Amino acid sequence: MKTIVAVATPPGRSAIGVIRLSGPDSLDVVRRLIDEDQFAPEPGRATLKSLKDLEQKEVLDRVLITYFKEPHSFTGEDVVELSCHGSPVILREVVDIVLSLDVRLAGPGEFTLRALSNGKLNLNQAEAIRDLIDARTGASARQAVRQLDGELSARLEPIRDRLLQIIVVLESALEFVEDDLPQLRNAELQATAAEIANEVGSLASTFSVGHLLREGLKVTIVGRPNVGKSSLFNKLLNWERAIVTEVAGTTRDSLTEPMSVKGVPILLTDTAGVREASDRIESIGVERTRQAIADADLLLVVLDGSAELSPEDLSVLSCSRNVHHIVALNKSDLGAFDRSLASKVVDGSKIVEVSAVTGSGINELCAAILEPFGRGESESSGLLITDARHYDLLCRAREEINTSVRLFEENVSEELVLVGLHNALRFIGEITGETTPEDILTRIFSTFCIGK
Ligand code: GDP
Repeated sequence: MKTIVAVATPPGRSAIGVIRLSGPDSLDVVRRLIDEDQFAPEPGRATLKSLKDLEQKEVLDRVLITYFKEPHSFTGEDVVELSCHGSPVILREVVDIVLSLDVRLAGPGEFTLRALSNGKLNLNQAEAIRDLIDARTGASARQAVRQLDGELSARLEPIRDRLLQIIVVLESALEFVEDDLPQLRNAELQATAAEIANEVGSLASTFSVGHLLREGLKVTIVGRPNVGKSSLFNKLLNWERAIVTEVAGTTRDSLTEPMSVKGVPILLTDTAGVREASDRIESIGVERTRQAIADADLLLVVLDGSAELSPEDLSVLSCSRNVHHIVALNKSDLGAFDRSLASKVVDGSKIVEVSAVTGSGINELCAAILEPFGRGESESSGLLITDARHYDLLCRAREEINTSVRLFEENVSEELVLVGLHNALRFIGEITGETTPEDILTRIFSTFCIGK
């Protein structure tokens, strides 16, 4: 196996920048870099050394070298981490020298792929590392850590074992045709299979919340000009991101910022007011608003509760009718605020009274944002399926087991019942990587960053 190298820290200047090597030549390469043939670092200990260029022996940087001896390393191979100063120029220079020593630049996720091939972790743990790095909120990071700790595999293992037990009984019945399975045994196997299908189904059903934690929601604020969209945007973000004025049409283009509600990452977009634009810049803004509406998972329709509903308000409401939406009845702090306006919004929308100035009603608004997506007060503290690939495989496994259960009922031959059970076993194995085809592995690892 060839030795690979990559910078493990993000591009740009920083206090330190880590270069990581993995493979049989890692330590030899480092010996060349520090010009010490006999360098024999204690594994797991950092040693301060000077890195030199190969010809002039000029010192390039003072670095901390940490050696992890195989198999006690992340990849299971010899690994060396060089903590250099975080100068992109130095990092580039060091990597170039390493590459000249018959070492190859690592591909995306290649370190993790090696850990997988060396049995240091299974596929869903490898995916959890990627998800942990990509997590946008603490809650989604926590789910990734649970999977990294092997919680999903631990849930799947008894499911696999029980499936295997049924398969073994049925397979042996096939071999000894003369002693057909007694009816009673058959009923027992069928009941166990149905239980397994339920268990797989309930694990899969956690995806609705798990998916939300991982992927988040796109929430777009819409409304006619001057109802307080930008003020609400700022209040939700808790900082003055958008310019607020009493002049209609101030927000000419959409602004998008991340925020989070109960651990769910949200991309919040403030749009230009939906109305007939008076100039070209504003009209481009209005067009983008229409695009943002089309892209949104949820619309926050803002109405000014201190003014009469205008035809523009009604047109925004009608545009939102077929999308998940909430009405924010804004300016509840004003004397002219008229909550009976809500009764004029007749389409059954969820209505929350808010004040973007005082912040009243903002918590209720946040809770209402998540309501249509099933992450209410009773949020689950258990393990959640967060990855669409896992969800798909669990659904397919459940379907296969259910087909076998139906065939059991019809008393058909064991051979036919076995097909579904074997397929289910394979699908579950694809989650942990035991039966994952090569091309799928390649696809999964292409979603990793370089250096991981
Ligand atoms: P947009 O055009 O819909 O983005 O509206 P803005 O956020 O720019 O607000 C228009 C005007 O309404 C500004 O003068 C705000 O200060 C004012 N405004 C917005 N929200 C509230 C609110 O909740 N209460 C009061 N009293 N004024 C508000």
